[in-house]
Amino acid sequence: MILVLVDHDRGEIDPLSLRALTSAHKLGHDVEAIVIGNDGAALANIVGEYGAQVLHVASHAAITDYTPMASGRALKDLVEKLKPAAVLAAGSPRGNEQLAHLAAFLDIPMAAECLEITLGSPHHVLRARWAGNLIESAYVHAELLVATVLSFSVEPESISGAAATVAQFEPALQPADSVVKILSRDAGESKGGVTLNDAKVIVSGGRGVGGPDGFGNLEELAALLGGTVGCSRVVTSSGWRPHAEQVGQTGTKVAPDLYIAAGISGAMQHIAGMKNSKTIVVINTDPEAPILRYADYAIIGDLHQVIPALTSAIRQAKG
Ligand SMILES: Cc1cc2nc3c(=O)[nH]c(=O)nc-3n(C[C@H](O)[C@H](O)[C@H](O)COP(=O)(O)OP(=O)(O)OC[C@H]3O[C@@H](n4cnc5c(N)ncnc54)[C@H](O)[C@@H]3O)c2cc1C
Repeated sequence: MILVLVDHDRGEIDPLSLRALTSAHKLGHDVEAIVIGNDGAALANIVGEYGAQVLHVASHAAITDYTPMASGRALKDLVEKLKPAAVLAAGSPRGNEQLAHLAAFLDIPMAAECLEITLGSPHHVLRARWAGNLIESAYVHAELLVATVLSFSVEPESISGAAATVAQFEPALQPADSVVKILSRDAGESKGGVTLNDAKVIVSGGRGVGGPDGFGNLEELAALLGGTVGCSRVVTSSGWRPHAEQVGQTGTKVAPDLYIAAGISGAMQHIAGMKNSKTIVVINTDPEAPILRYADYAIIGDLHQVIPALTSAIRQAKG
């Protein structure tokens, strides 16, 4: 059996977890899922649809929101009881963090960001390193494989199963397990309520935008296309936009239908977060900018002229 950690934010499933369920299903074993916190119990239908027969719900008074060490402890308790062949999770920052705690508790290795997994003795994985610029072939010498699935390396496949059977359990948490917890949240949503994770269109700006005021034009274009604004790390480090909007290795990894990169050079850490976008449009004054290698369409020009021109052409086309 393969156990999949299905991550959720106050009951809202992380879509990358559906991809992890599909990866588990493709390994040809039975699949069971675990959610941390009572809010996750409502996910029995969807995890069933994506192939899990049982949904284990870890609940405890100390789990009120994201508590990564408590997740690791709950996973450890369940692993010791069920003895799965592997534990998988999405290769998101949260998925990587929670499985790292599990591996540390069990004192075994963890393989992050795998795009191919072969269970065996030893297990074999192909995994992305260096922001996806290196694919590592590695053997994992541990009876239990603990691994996360590289974001967007597999398409989620609904297999129309029945709802998973819910099995509640209370993990034996220790006080130290809730040392790391959420104290407060900044609203991660941009205007219009579309987040980077679910946006079909992202209009992303880099240093070339020139300052916080320059993002007004990007917001207007994004709103017109029903999308949201993203940005590079230079932009968040300069305090022009919130970190929730950063795309890349240390930001959010996205795969929208359309990614417009304006004034972004294409450092590998940025590319790692957006190269899976279906269509990439680049707006840059530099015809040699590295990001052009990934562009389906490129406009060589000043974004301060190009974006208002695009916005007005789209407005006209929409009547
Ligand atoms: C460990 C680590 C993690 C990192 N994680 C991330 C990450 O998650 N995301 C990320 O983005 N970066 C990340 N970085 C930073 C990354 O290396 C780059 O520094 C950053 O992506 C560059 O941002 P930029 O493209 O906006 O700026 P620049 O590289 O300065 O590029 C600006 C671009 O704008 C163009 N331009 C200038 N003016 C205009 C104009 N008027 N119109 C059109 N184009 C114009 C220029 O030609 C240039 O191509 C990370 C770095 C490290 C070391």
